[in-house]
Amino acid sequence: MYKKLAAYCKEKDIDLVAVTKTRAVSSIEELYEMGHRDFGENRVQELQDKHDEMPKDIRWHMIGHLQSNKVKYIAPFVYLIHSGAGLSLLKEINKRARQHNRVIDVLLQIKIGQEAAKTGWEKEELFESLNNGAIQDLKHTRVKGVMGMATFTTDQDTIHSEFSELRSLFDLIQQKYYQSSPHFNTVSMGMSGDYKIAAECGSTMVRIGSLLFS
Ligand SMILES: *Cc1c(COP(=O)(O)O)cnc(C)c1O
Repeated sequence: MYKKLAAYCKEKDIDLVAVTKTRAVSSIEELYEMGHRDFGENRVQELQDKHDEMPKDIRWHMIGHLQSNKVKYIAPFVYLIHSGAGLSLLKEINKRARQHNRVIDVLLQIKIGQEAAKTGWEKEELFESLNNGAIQDLKHTRVKGVMGMATFTTDQDTIHSEFSELRSLFDLIQQKYYQSSPHFNTVSMGMSGDYKIAAECGSTMVRIGSLLFS
């Protein structure tokens, strides 16, 4: 399935993050040998272990819920944190990035789905932290865009409207706060079950796990 998906993404100009959580290192090696370099994990420990074991030119994406007290473990090497949800987490990422003399790329994870358990910025909170400059003040984090997960449902219309909302929020934030920042260019949305809907709604990066290995 990898080649088909990679071709699909290339045609649509979408970046493909291969989600390898729970997969053995051998599955990563297989994709690596085909030239793939972007891999995503949702747990800090697994991200760290796999980073230690695998070639150093892999770009490691942190896609899952991130606790502030674990940022320090991935700060030296993480390529992009998709789950930048909340100001206190961003401040911690900024602090650890500074300690390592680097700038860490992050996405603002915004709550769009209906499940109460879904993490992410509430919209009001996010706009408050953008309006008062609290996010832009963090000089060791670079905000590259937004990320979101649709409600876990088979109702295509719900998914479509949630992804469209996320894309509109991206456009609005881009215009209002990042107009002079060409690096603000990423909309991370779409997984195995909904990546085609995400593509229709203007995704620029999909995170795909189970389908890749089917
Ligand atoms: C597991 C996971 C994915 C990939 O899910 P699949 O349905 O296996 O493609 C994408 N994003 C996040 C945040 C995940 O935890």
